[in-house]
Amino acid sequence: MAQWSKNGLYIDGQWTPTAASDPIINPATEEVIGHAPTGGNAETDMAIAAARRTFDESDWRFLPSTTRQRILTRFLDILEERRTEIVELIVAEAGATQALANTLQFATPIAHARHTVEICTRPAITALTPEINQTMFGDRWLASGVAVREPVGVVSAITAYNFPFFLNLAKVVPALAAGCTVVLKPSPYTPFQALILGDVANESGLPAGVLNIINGGVDTGELMTTDPRVDLVSFTGSDLVGAKIQAQAAPTLKRCLLELGGKSAFVVRHDADLQRAAVTAAMHFTIHAGQGCALMTRTLVHNSVRADFTQMVKSIVEQAVIGNPADPKVTLGPLIREAQRQRTENYVAIALDEGANLVTGGRRPDDQDKGFFYKPTLFDNVSNSSRIAQEEVFGPIGVVIGFDDDDEAVAMANQSEFGLSGGIFSADVATAYEMAMRIRTGELNINGGPGKMSSHFPFGGIKRSGYGREYGEEGLNEFTYIKTIGYHAG
Ligand code: NAD
Repeated sequence: MAQWSKNGLYIDGQWTPTAASDPIINPATEEVIGHAPTGGNAETDMAIAAARRTFDESDWRFLPSTTRQRILTRFLDILEERRTEIVELIVAEAGATQALANTLQFATPIAHARHTVEICTRPAITALTPEINQTMFGDRWLASGVAVREPVGVVSAITAYNFPFFLNLAKVVPALAAGCTVVLKPSPYTPFQALILGDVANESGLPAGVLNIINGGVDTGELMTTDPRVDLVSFTGSDLVGAKIQAQAAPTLKRCLLELGGKSAFVVRHDADLQRAAVTAAMHFTIHAGQGCALMTRTLVHNSVRADFTQMVKSIVEQAVIGNPADPKVTLGPLIREAQRQRTENYVAIALDEGANLVTGGRRPDDQDKGFFYKPTLFDNVSNSSRIAQEEVFGPIGVVIGFDDDDEAVAMANQSEFGLSGGIFSADVATAYEMAMRIRTGELNINGGPGKMSSHFPFGGIKRSGYGREYGEEGLNEFTYIKTIGYHAG
């Protein structure tokens, strides 16, 4: 079994040794895949200092955007050259299946990042419309000026464990492309997918101090969100931690970009292509063992087709091949840790208590003595107001909730503290579009549209799913602010 290692944290262009290290576990085998260096307050302070100094004193932010574009293109080229190794790491560290690791966890973030790099040379200066201003003293002048997009400064990037390579790139690349400097902290479960970016930074010619990568837990994250030298926090994780981060960042009035959890609704109308809808629903609560923010884990199904639909989903998920995703035949990998599996089990108990009907699953697989596996689990006859329908589980749990008309479906979709994703399946696309316009969420797909997979679609949530957008031009703009410079045109 491959062992992963790093000689320290990546600070100011150097590998800085640490006193502490933590064993990193493969969630499918429970074996240690390597020991990751772990920082404390001293390393966090060094990383923030390096990012601040580099932003304030180096020419990084003043470089022509084409220069940053060239360096970042090289950065992405090297990542693609190391694809086999990185995919192997995604499988071993995050427990992703081969298919998922190769596509959504590797190819998609590279495509997003390439698009960001491609558009980062858009004009940073926009001429403002001239106008005649009247002064207090009665004279008039012709005023004009420009709006300049400036990099916001030092960025603390804090990421979740489920799509680590994806999330790290989604923050690092636009921040650097905009001319910011970055301190990146991954989840302590998945540090190697971040630290590997340090090698690539050196090789691609990224100047020292522009990207700093540390590894640590809550204490490290707290320092990164309270230190006055940090200008912006870009965070991906749970709503509870997102709320803490907003509070931690408040005394120093940092800007925050919060990409949080979800419990997205998937509406299946009476006229939907049921087989395709069933495949979509099944995929959404089983892909990556349900550990995805934008997964549609709340399925609202017209009561006239609910029984057939539920049987279809049942028979699809019962074909899942559960096991170590190092085997390409495996379609369902593990949860990240035992605590996440116990959380899933706890929610199954809650659903049963609430009177939901267990259609399939509801237990650990019998044939896996190692690894944090759980069977795909489907509940029917679920109330939309129950906890299993409203709370994010982050395990392979799907719920089917019946409805009788479109208004009821829209009302149920909106009855959620979250608002991240969503979908509608219907043969009547015009009606689906009207419903989509009434559902409050950050993204919504009709009959399986692209959404988060597309580099051009800004992605992000509302309500407890957070705020701010990633990808495309809106994603790049999050790392900038507007400065206006006015002058007399005459
Ligand atoms: P988490 O909130 O437990 O941790 C996320 C990160 O925050 C980790 O790096 C953690 O060490 C750090 N952290 C924890 N407490 C902190 C604090 N007080 N201050 C600063 N940092 C702190 O999330 P997780 O369990 O790693 O990931 C799962 C969650 O992430 C789910 O809720 C999921 O929906 C969400 N997520 C959202 C998106 C999105 O784009 N909206 C994408 C992926 C995951």
